[in-house]
Amino acid sequence: MTDSNLKFYGEDVFSEKAIRVHLSKAVADKLIATMREGKPLDPTIADSVAEGMKKWALKKGATHFTHWFQPLTGGTAEKHDAFLDPAGPAQAVFRFSGRNLIGGEADASSFPSGGLRSTFEARGYTAWDPTSPAFIKRHENGATLCIPTAFCSYTGDALDMKTPLLRSIQAVSRATGRLMAKFSQPDAHVEITLGAEQEYFLIDRGYYMRRPDLLQTGRTVFGAAPAKHQQLEDHYFGAIRPRILKFMSEVEDRLWKLGIPAKTRHNEVAPAQFELAPMFEDLNLAVDHNMLIMEVLRQSAERNGLVCLLHEKPFAGVNGSGKHCNWSIAYGGRNLLSPGSNPRENAIFLTFLSAIIRAVDLHADILRMTTAGAGNDHRLGANEAPPAIISIFLGDDLNAVMKAIECGSAQSSRSRRRALKVGVDTLPPLPMDATDRNRTSPFAFTGNKFEFRAPGSSQNCAQSQMVLNTIVAESIDAICDKLEAMEGGFNDNLQKLLQRLIRKHKRVLFSGDGYSGEWEKEAEARKLPNLRDTPQALAPLRDRTARALFAKYGVLTESEMESRYEIGIDDYKRRILIEGEVALDIARSMIRPVVADEFSKLATAIGQAKKDGLKVGLRGLTALSLKLGAGLDDLHVKCERVEKTLAKGEPTAILGAMDDLRRTVDRLEHLVDDSRWPLPKYREMLFVY
Ligand code: ADP
Ligand code: MG
Repeated sequence: MTDSNLKFYGEDVFSEKAIRVHLSKAVADKLIATMREGKPLDPTIADSVAEGMKKWALKKGATHFTHWFQPLTGGTAEKHDAFLDPAGPAQAVFRFSGRNLIGGEADASSFPSGGLRSTFEARGYTAWDPTSPAFIKRHENGATLCIPTAFCSYTGDALDMKTPLLRSIQAVSRATGRLMAKFSQPDAHVEITLGAEQEYFLIDRGYYMRRPDLLQTGRTVFGAAPAKHQQLEDHYFGAIRPRILKFMSEVEDRLWKLGIPAKTRHNEVAPAQFELAPMFEDLNLAVDHNMLIMEVLRQSAERNGLVCLLHEKPFAGVNGSGKHCNWSIAYGGRNLLSPGSNPRENAIFLTFLSAIIRAVDLHADILRMTTAGAGNDHRLGANEAPPAIISIFLGDDLNAVMKAIECGSAQSSRSRRRALKVGVDTLPPLPMDATDRNRTSPFAFTGNKFEFRAPGSSQNCAQSQMVLNTIVAESIDAICDKLEAMEGGFNDNLQKLLQRLIRKHKRVLFSGDGYSGEWEKEAEARKLPNLRDTPQALAPLRDRTARALFAKYGVLTESEMESRYEIGIDDYKRRILIEGEVALDIARSMIRPVVADEFSKLATAIGQAKKDGLKVGLRGLTALSLKLGAGLDDLHVKCERVEKTLAKGEPTAILGAMDDLRRTVDRLEHLVDDSRWPLPKYREMLFVY
């Protein structure tokens, strides 16, 4: 291998290199300025860009193009159009115009809109996002040119994840520029960065096909815990099996061609669980790339006879999957969340840090909202994932620094000794890569970025990042407003302000064990919100203060927030109804017949044994038949209950009844003849691949 092997990196992207080859210099310069700095695009160049893009795409074997967008379903959407255009009898040409590139109209009546788009006005409009480059998606018989787009209604309401994300990037960039000017920093480009670590499970496709629950809901609604699951923690970072490595290298090959910097691969904590982490990138691009990563994972798994499960909790009793979103702000290429080497840089670092602490404390509920969902409910709040309580982990060193600022101008000599003068003193050296990071914290400072660990593995990171950007923008602006209103020297004012901020918002800082029951109590005493399930977590979308905040920053209007609330609740209810129906169906049509059959065979055998006057075996047969019989009765009762709750449609009741049913089914799994149990078992799915 040499660097020239890397030529394929990004070959399926209409990259700056491809742009330079296929567009005139003047047009290329303009497009690249837009891509790099988000400068408004000159609409007169659209036709030339389209022509160049088409030539490039045809060379790559593309026959179709599509606007590629992220509707509120949480996935991606595409509708292909052929480049082909009839040009007389039995003749055709390939055509692709500026109009095709810039905008499209799609019948959007079946995308969730939460009432934003009345059905008689069912059109949705896609609009080209030139800041995320077009790319080629391949299939066995050709390829498709994909153009990342935003998706809006006729009235301009955002029907997607990208539109508000882009708006929020603008908001936080503007606020960052404003604050940097207070530090007399020259004007520079602000870049918000995201590195999203993706967790997933892989199981053999054969098992998957025989599990209607996995097929229909993405998770197993039944399955007894195997004797060995993750107790020995021998899977985490273990040697990767050859079959999985083959899959992983195929994934990487696809991703590298798409210019996605897949970097790290490893086994995760649960058996059959894995992680892929790319290098961080510009936030908007990183979000698009994460959506592609999920797609490539699914497709490559299929080609390898595997199935990639992106559900947050496919298997009870072992760890679920998250998507750790590493977020930071760069200014003129310098990471602002990197503690600097001089007092000025430190002051900037500490100010941004304080702004983020203030933002997360004030708006923890709306940040929690972004992680809501039927799947993620099984993670958050269970004792294995970051809790539903949003708190911040800073680490011992930074905690000490915060304390030192807090007592910076305190009078006691004891505190003066430890005082830190913002903008004057240099920070004590902070270990950049602390090894004892607290894995139980949902929002952790990890040396030079914040890692939000609450988002679920299947969720679009745009949602959490959009909220994070907006609340941080508001905090930065609040700091700027205060500084402008203060009289006196800048450093003294900043010191006073940061002191006040830390005092006011330190309740959100927590370094202990986030999984513990004590933390739940402590958090309650600190009055931190603990939104346990999706309906509670979605409620902040209807909160007046939150609505005012998002409207003020032009990120989401009131009606856009309402629509997101409605879509979230609907999605939650529908998913749980489906899960309940699937559970009931499996229990009645797959489990019950086997149990009933085994029971009746036993009953016959017992009768026969008694008739024959057998002296041995009768006790065993009777004991088993008693257990099976009780299980069969139990199964009947539990199924009835699930059925009743389904008729009422109340999610919590359905989930409760399903849990009850599960206990019965999982007990029966241990009683019924293994060769006749109709579902692949955990010990097979999680270990045999
Ligand atoms: P872990 O949390 O598993 O220890 P790493 O420290 O290697 O992982 O980093 C996790 C992710 O954080 C990677 O995707 C990495 O690119 C990303 N990351 C690093 N620096 C930044 C940054 N400045 N902004 C955003 N993400 C970053
Ligand atoms: Mg991590």
